[in-house]
Amino acid sequence: MVGAREHNLANIDVEIPKRKFTVVTGVSGSGKSSLVFDTIATEAQRQLYETLPAFVRGFLPSYGHPNVDMIEHLSAVVVVDQRRLGGGSRSTVGTATDIAPLLRLLFSRAGTPAVGGPDAFSFNLPTGMCPGCAGLGEVIDIDMTAFLDPDRSLNEGALLAPAFKVGSWYWQVYARSERLDPDKPVRDYTEEERHTLLYSTSGSVPVDVRGQQVNASYEGAVVKFRRLYIQRDSAELGQRTRQMVERFTTSVSCPDCGGARLSRAALDCRVAGHGIAELSAMEAAHLHDVLTGLDLPTAAPIVDALAERVGHLVDIGLGYLSLDRRTDTLSGGESQRVKIVRHLASTLTDMLYIFDEPSTGLHARDVRRLTDLLLSLRDNGNTVLAVEHDPDVIAAADHVIDIGPGAGDNGGRVVFTGDVAALSTADTPTGRHMRARTRLKDAVRTPTGHLTVSGATLHNLRDLTVEIPTGVLTVVSGVAGSGKSSLVYGVLCAQHPEAVVVDQSALTANRRSTTATYTGLLDPIRKAFARANGVSPALFSANSAGACPTCEGMGVIYSDVAHLGEVSAVCESCQGRRFTAEVLTYHLNGRTISDVLEMTVAQAREFLSGQRAVAPVLDALVDVGLDYLRLGQPLTTLSGGERQRVKLATHLHRQGAIYVLDEPTTGLHMSDVARLLDVLDRLVDTHAGTAVVIEHNLDVIAHADWVIDLGPEGGSSGGQILFEGTPRALCDVPHSHTATHLRQALA
Ligand code: ADP
Ligand code: ADP
Ligand code: ZN
Ligand code: ZN
Repeated sequence: MVGAREHNLANIDVEIPKRKFTVVTGVSGSGKSSLVFDTIATEAQRQLYETLPAFVRGFLPSYGHPNVDMIEHLSAVVVVDQRRLGGGSRSTVGTATDIAPLLRLLFSRAGTPAVGGPDAFSFNLPTGMCPGCAGLGEVIDIDMTAFLDPDRSLNEGALLAPAFKVGSWYWQVYARSERLDPDKPVRDYTEEERHTLLYSTSGSVPVDVRGQQVNASYEGAVVKFRRLYIQRDSAELGQRTRQMVERFTTSVSCPDCGGARLSRAALDCRVAGHGIAELSAMEAAHLHDVLTGLDLPTAAPIVDALAERVGHLVDIGLGYLSLDRRTDTLSGGESQRVKIVRHLASTLTDMLYIFDEPSTGLHARDVRRLTDLLLSLRDNGNTVLAVEHDPDVIAAADHVIDIGPGAGDNGGRVVFTGDVAALSTADTPTGRHMRARTRLKDAVRTPTGHLTVSGATLHNLRDLTVEIPTGVLTVVSGVAGSGKSSLVYGVLCAQHPEAVVVDQSALTANRRSTTATYTGLLDPIRKAFARANGVSPALFSANSAGACPTCEGMGVIYSDVAHLGEVSAVCESCQGRRFTAEVLTYHLNGRTISDVLEMTVAQAREFLSGQRAVAPVLDALVDVGLDYLRLGQPLTTLSGGERQRVKLATHLHRQGAIYVLDEPTTGLHMSDVARLLDVLDRLVDTHAGTAVVIEHNLDVIAHADWVIDLGPEGGSSGGQILFEGTPRALCDVPHSHTATHLRQALA
């Protein structure tokens, strides 16, 4: 490739060896994504698009040329990124890895009693789905806690839905039937009385209609509510009725299939004594054992193929997931690894596979297994390219391209290419950190108190009680699936809602939100423009009369092309400058508001150095390694790691808060990690905060004051607390994977 200039790339030439494993590394903002995703992947997609017939192209978004002079010998590209797997409730680990179809094939060939074709085992096809829930595994039913107040009697309004209001016609059926005591609290009903109130459908009762006695047929309250509201097509109900129904219902496991989604015939079919629902609910590691123990001569090739693919799930550190796990409950790192498993089974060769930090979410123990799988893709005759920071992944590469030396305008150059041996002597930030050792602190902080998390029972956690020290930095460690997120997000944050969650989730769905609006920087900037020009600050806002009316202040126009994806184009009215011509006549020190929004954080810090109101936020953004971000960059275009750091910088000034962070080193180069640790230290020391951080990075673990290590493994073999104490004491723990790898890193 010759002359790449996308974003900050400085007209660079790069060669990527075919059928090798190449890692692209460098500090954050140096230009790795601009090279790998915005140049190489985009060009490959564009070249593929050019080969399609014109009428097909008419339905696809058009791909612009990336800013590069020449790219030659490009293979077909597969980008395996951390975007969550969509597909709603019908997408599971089994369907996303293509393991589910093989399992169905096995049951159709070797199951007894025989059921028929593989389709009879598919919950996404009418022949196989449970008729009760249409293959969803869940049905909507009454939420009894919302529907009934057992402390009240009928006269006091024990039935809470509006249809059963005291005095109403339906209420009379129960309260005036003489079958039930209208003054007795429902809690004191006998089993039979409760059945009468809720479920009975026998006989009739007299009710009063405008002074006339008429007979109404009796129907229990649950049966009636279901018939009136749940068993109807919800499209027939008005919006307010739908909202009412939502208040009194919840989704529950389907009573027909027990949540297994399949028809009775499919569920009753057995292979070597196992049902398909049972195998789908097993953790992959256990399923692998079962499959390798099967002796089925008639179906041996299917069993072997299944065992191999399930083995890949285990190898890649996902042995704790079951095939029936919904993909929309997986983290970004887990999603990427599920996608990897699908591609490992592919027999295509000469593809270019591109990965985005595949080690995200992986414990040091599993990184080795990940690199083995990447190398096996290479050995199948493919070219493998990964953006990565993890020293163990870099060490496994055939070829390294180091972009830098700094971020933004200080980066964009190739500072090193070659093999790992040469990198280890190179004088670049990556080379220096490959040689560096992890170090323990001399002294840890003394806690100011404790937060207690008690009775933690969620997913694989069984009634854990943990004390989390306040006023210090605590790291929660453990292999993937050991229960870290369940403990921290599911339990700690639920028991202590005052905690500030600084995670990687989206900040907002609003495209108009930018780094400047989210961090609150825009306000003082608008005021400074207003003061300098004697006009109203509102003019400089993206949702005011000052904004370009064509693009509504976004500078770009988005259009959705036939559901295939979104294309954005620079707004022609304002040439991407976001504001009306009038607003662009106003200047602050010679620059327009549009110029300022185009500045990076580092440039803005220099330009706005006289503005006291913006300094703390700009400093905080620099400290978390985001000096290269442009103030006007839409938040929707940030990576997960960048989003988390924008949140961190925004919340940094709070006093005495509990901060919860999720793998904050995601997207950070080894040399950025030192700066992140400074930020965490400041949060604890200057702001008297408590930091609770889920992290695998051994430098961060070594820097903690307190470590809570979960394990020993993932899923049902995890969920226990292996260790609570200082990093120094952790090194002596015998059966912890974290301890083993920490010892190695310190050696
Ligand atoms: P890395 O992947 O190494 O973290 P990037 O390639 O994302 O770095 O960014 C390199 C530079 O390009 C940064 O200065 C960044 O702000 C800039 N940049 C990235 N994406 C865009 C974009 N969509 N528009 C303008 N500048 C961008
Ligand atoms: P970690 O954060 O250490 O990777 P998690 O807390 O995500 O671990 O997972 C612990 C266990 O709980 C695993 O067996 C995982 O499969 C299970 N689990 C996590 N989230 C869900 C969920 N939404 N539904 C079902 N099981 C879950
Ligand atoms: Zn069902
Ligand atoms: Zn415009």
